[in-house]
Amino acid sequence: MTVPQPLVSPLTLSVVTPMYNEREAVDHFVARLRPVLDGLAVAYEVVAVDDGSSDATVARLLQLRADWPELRVVSLRRNVGHQTALAAGLRSAGGDYVVSIDADLQDPPETIGEMLAAAREQGVDVVYGVRNDRSSDTVFKRRTAGIYYWTMRRLVGSWVSDQAGDFRLMSRAVVDVLNDLPEQRPVYRLVVPSLGFSSAEVTYVRAERVAGETKYPLSKMIKLTLDSVTSFSATPLRIATWLGILAFFLCLALIVSGLVAWGFGAVVPGWTSLYIAVLLLGGIQLICLGLLGEYIGRIYAAVQKRPQYLVAMDTADETAPSVEDIELASHR
Ligand code: UDP
Ligand code: MG
Repeated sequence: MTVPQPLVSPLTLSVVTPMYNEREAVDHFVARLRPVLDGLAVAYEVVAVDDGSSDATVARLLQLRADWPELRVVSLRRNVGHQTALAAGLRSAGGDYVVSIDADLQDPPETIGEMLAAAREQGVDVVYGVRNDRSSDTVFKRRTAGIYYWTMRRLVGSWVSDQAGDFRLMSRAVVDVLNDLPEQRPVYRLVVPSLGFSSAEVTYVRAERVAGETKYPLSKMIKLTLDSVTSFSATPLRIATWLGILAFFLCLALIVSGLVAWGFGAVVPGWTSLYIAVLLLGGIQLICLGLLGEYIGRIYAAVQKRPQYLVAMDTADETAPSVEDIELASHR
């Protein structure tokens, strides 16, 4: 009788990198990442998730892969955003440990070795990369990030670290939990600490983007903030309730003063007060409706259960197109 063997992953480490129009950065990234991973002496893979890039990121990745078989390319059909691209990468990754890292070398690949050592030596499930210096970021980036983390700590909880982004190592157990989450738009920097797995930290200095422009314009930052707030806190709805209660008492006072004025016969000049009351109430109502709408929109998306992303090509798939196919297609 054969004894069933436990399933052991042949890969120790997967490095997941979402890339959106990173043609300029990808060569620098590979040149720095590869020696680090080769030097770790563990079986590894790099999962480069192309988030629907419109430049030559995929073609270049496929060329680089010819010389680096550990590089796997997963290409999504359209741009779905950093966090969802990360979700696609986590689902593709097969390693016992999975590191998520940006493609622009703002997170130093050399830290991956430290993270892996910390996870193994301390036996923890998550190792956060914590930025101890953001001086290389622009003032705008630091300010907006400051506002984001301040808001999250107030609304979500003080456990939200204000210096931990998406550079982290997670064990297979954590990744399996994340992959099973039914959430449509998970915000991993909040979800991972909320799960309560044992963790450690390694600090690093945030470097400047190696090439190209940021792929996080203000509109994407606002989207991330709204997703973060609505997926973790009902406080805005409670604020809407309090605004409603406040407005109600204000109205009661105004009704009393209106009746008193009517009793004294002084009712005609009232344009300014009417004007202010209508605008104020209208404003409060619109804010509350908007707040409700944000939550309802997310419930709607969750009920629709549309796929978060679609994979157009995966080099781990036998039927994946070759470099030549891609090049031919781009010249057509
Ligand atoms: N990214 C992505 N999809 C997007 C926007 C960004 O996959 O829609 C990737 C991007 O290629 C990079 C990472 O997410 O690897 C972080 O983006 P970026 O460095 O531009 O953000 P910043 O560091 O400026 O906040
Ligand atoms: Mg960056």
